[in-house]
Amino acid sequence: MLTFNYRYRIYPDAPQEQQLIEWMDICRGAYNYALREIKDWCDSRKCLIDRCSLDKEYIIPADTKFPNEIYQLNNLPKAKKQFLRLKEVPSQVLQQAIKQLHKGWDYFTKRGFGFPRFKKYGQFKSLLFPQFKGNPVTDLHLLLPKIGAIPINLHRPIPSGFVVKQVRIIRKADRWYTSILIQCDVSIPDPAPHGHPIGVDIGLSKFLATSEGVLVKPPKFLKKLQHKLKLLQRRLSRKKKRSKNYSKARLQVARLHHKIDNSRKNFHYKQAHALCDQGDMVFMENLDYRVSAKGFLGKQMLDAGFGQFRTIVKYVSSKRGKFFAQVDARGTSQRCPSCGGEVKKDLSVRVHSCPHCNYQTDRDVASGMVIRNRGLELISTPGLGGKETACAVGLPGAGEISSRSETKPRKEITRKSSK
Ligand SMILES: [Zn+2]
Repeated sequence: MLTFNYRYRIYPDAPQEQQLIEWMDICRGAYNYALREIKDWCDSRKCLIDRCSLDKEYIIPADTKFPNEIYQLNNLPKAKKQFLRLKEVPSQVLQQAIKQLHKGWDYFTKRGFGFPRFKKYGQFKSLLFPQFKGNPVTDLHLLLPKIGAIPINLHRPIPSGFVVKQVRIIRKADRWYTSILIQCDVSIPDPAPHGHPIGVDIGLSKFLATSEGVLVKPPKFLKKLQHKLKLLQRRLSRKKKRSKNYSKARLQVARLHHKIDNSRKNFHYKQAHALCDQGDMVFMENLDYRVSAKGFLGKQMLDAGFGQFRTIVKYVSSKRGKFFAQVDARGTSQRCPSCGGEVKKDLSVRVHSCPHCNYQTDRDVASGMVIRNRGLELISTPGLGGKETACAVGLPGAGEISSRSETKPRKEITRKSSK
């Protein structure tokens, strides 16, 4: 089963826009009501020791079951009789709001943190239409139940053989988008390791450095527009809340954020395609970039958007039939790609020069090469297919690595699995 999400811009006219906003607000109400039910149930099951138990404990009868998804979905028809407003929204769309809450709830219970929150006005920004009888997308319009045809910019045709399964309407700043989930009933195997490998090291001083020696400067989208954003945010802070001018200023801030987001994403896609042009196998580090985004370079890390970039590289390489894998990130900058020896250097040292074998190259390129070498070891480990990589021959130091460092990374792998 092949599944893609295609995003198009849509242009609802004023009444349609009004209706969509109205629907989102109704769904928000249902979401908040359902969350209140869950919260009340949770509050009634516990009582802090210094609180009055008359006030807190078991306001809801002790044998009441947890308001789960099915219970809340079944209550919707009853609620519709009481709150006539709910009838305006297509019922499946309303159900999705409840389902969304329970998805968040399940994730919270699994993870242990991130309790679902109430959504304020304007925080419910998308509607999901989960089912369609026919094809709702034509060349010019998107047909939605109860709302009719909305003009769509179908800049990319839906490929033949694909069926539209779901449609999500998204509101970003003052623009409207639709994310269309399409499916095709074919199975395509994951691309096997083959061809020319490249290792990609990403960092702040260079956005990316490949093992081939390609260096890309960081684009710094946020930094370039930061002064403008600051100005707009300051203007917004001085407006009277809920006034007309406040909403205008808020929109300007939102538009600028949207612009930064779009240009960053565009850049990521272009770089990902450039990487796939260079090689057939792409290796990246398995770092969690959210951790370093909390450090003192947090803004720069978030501006670069490394996590999104890696996801996009993964997506692009799968679409283009290239192999993608993540390798262990520990100490990639402290190794010599040529002899495998340890070369200690802190962030200020920009050139890698090995005291063991006198190999010299750019620091980021060196770690890119280490990542590539680790990737090659990863795919030639038994259990991962045992693929021979003929291309490794002739690369600097590839011969020595196979004998010397074969044991080292495996040690790391076993240690990791024992955790
Ligand atoms: Zn060396």
